[in-house]
Amino acid sequence: AAEEGFDIEEVEGAIEEAGHGPLPVLAVVGRPNVGKSTLVNRIIGRREAVVEDKPGVTRDRVTYEAEWAGRRFKVVDTGGWEQDVLGIDASVAAQAEYAIEAADAVVFVVDAKVGATDTDEAVVRLLRKAGKPVVLCANKVDGPSGEADAAYLWSLGLGEPHPVSALHGRGTGDMLDKVLEALPEAPAQTFGTALGGPRRIALIGRPNVGKSSLLNKVAGEERVVVNELAGTTRDPVDELIELGGVTWKFVDTAGIRKRVHLQQGADYYASLRTAAAVEKAEVAVVLIDASESISVQDQRIVTMAVEAGRAIVVAYNKWDTLDEERRYYLEREIETELGQVAWAPRVNVSAQTGRHMEKLVPAIETALAGWETRVPTGRLNAFLGELVAAHPHPVRGGKQPRILFGTQAGTKPPRFVLFASGFIEAGYRRFVERRLREEFGFEGTPIHISVRVRE
Ligand code: GDP
Ligand code: GDP
Repeated sequence: AAEEGFDIEEVEGAIEEAGHGPLPVLAVVGRPNVGKSTLVNRIIGRREAVVEDKPGVTRDRVTYEAEWAGRRFKVVDTGGWEQDVLGIDASVAAQAEYAIEAADAVVFVVDAKVGATDTDEAVVRLLRKAGKPVVLCANKVDGPSGEADAAYLWSLGLGEPHPVSALHGRGTGDMLDKVLEALPEAPAQTFGTALGGPRRIALIGRPNVGKSSLLNKVAGEERVVVNELAGTTRDPVDELIELGGVTWKFVDTAGIRKRVHLQQGADYYASLRTAAAVEKAEVAVVLIDASESISVQDQRIVTMAVEAGRAIVVAYNKWDTLDEERRYYLEREIETELGQVAWAPRVNVSAQTGRHMEKLVPAIETALAGWETRVPTGRLNAFLGELVAAHPHPVRGGKQPRILFGTQAGTKPPRFVLFASGFIEAGYRRFVERRLREEFGFEGTPIHISVRVRE
């Protein structure tokens, strides 16, 4: 590294920064208008989330990456609340429940100026049941005079209320220090895997693509009785199913089976639920209804799994209904609409007839193997050396930026850091990614490539 003009500390720093596996998840919950989105904006340090209290605003994005005191984590924002047919308490509870399920720790936001309401109490009950670490945020304490209001929130029985002004930033640093104490270094779920627990699958897809049908088909008689597996603690919404001689955990099966008929807000709940399921899983099986045109919603769901950095399998369901014409158009649609996961193993299934069910597990295993692939540094650099020699970066402004060396900083998904002598253009980065895939596989996994440029 030194002879290429990078100092060792810089290189080690870059590798460490890029090298993380799945990040722990923090959920921010609370009733409407207590300041959740304002707080999330503060935590993520930019104004990406929507802060206006416009009812009916649906947000696509519910998870964000954040960093505090050098530690990285994900934040699940539940601020996109909408009043719906369930009524306020049930709506708040439903969205909080999804977020809490996926979280390793929770910030519960209460409006200190208003004090604890019945709706707040409903969330407290959920938090108790979930048993996850909770940091109580007494928000809207904009100055010292508000601190007494915060103290009243001891009555919630969730420990110390942290007086915060999400709007002005007062107290947020102290609160985030507490959050870091509550958050594990890596998601608890990852530890489960390290200990040999079952691999976790999120079966996702828009309504009516056939998720519950598929689950029932694959489960068949094979549902595993919880007690049979010693030492498995099981979330009631998760289900252990034996497939191909191996026990898998299908996460959030309640969301797959339970028919909650939501009218307004259904999109937002669905997004939240999908995001939560994906966070809890290692591999996402994205189900697409092959009998219908691939929709924006399908693409959004795929994007969520890609951005979460999960292993991915795409299953085209209802194959039994396809005629030749539809098959023709489907292939064209896959090319144009789902190019972002062209690397994902694909299965064409029918949950109804059971067609190709046996191909599901091999596809999942392939994706997980890609997700965990580690390329030795020597092999990577031999490959990069040849690549750069055969296909140099275009000359820009009289200079030719060059990739000098690289390393794989992490897995799950694979993360690479490339060190370069100048700015590497997006087109060339894509080219490098394509060639990396051709050379090393990475079937079924997103890969991250970051580039460090020599000063
Ligand atoms: P959410 O529905 O819980 O996501 O709440 P928002 O973040 O949208 O905030 C609701 C309203 O409270 C907005 O008008 C915010 O500007 C305001 N708000 C949020 N945090 C604070 C705060 O710390 N102090 C004051 N005075 N207002 C706040
Ligand atoms: P979910 O909302 O994604 O859980 O979808 P469901 O499993 O409830 O399925 C929606 C509808 O599609 C139901 O009427 C199913 O019977 C039907 N369906 C699911 N899978 C298939 C399939 O492979 N072929 C056919 N023809 N219909 C299916």
